[in-house]
Amino acid sequence: MVECVECGANIELDDDSILGDLIICEECGCEMEVTGVDPFTVAEAPQEDEDWDDI
Ligand SMILES: [Zn+2]
Repeated sequence: MVECVECGANIELDDDSILGDLIICEECGCEMEVTGVDPFTVAEAPQEDEDWDDI
């Protein structure tokens, strides 16, 4: 169980969640990334920029 970084709602994580998994808060819909698994920690997921200049 972790707390949403945006609204503080409790979120159940699957026991098999791994680092980098994306989860979505059911309360506010914000996207978070699993940053630790023992114990579970999450951080707000980085927003994907549409910046393809490096290609
Ligand atoms: Zn939330």
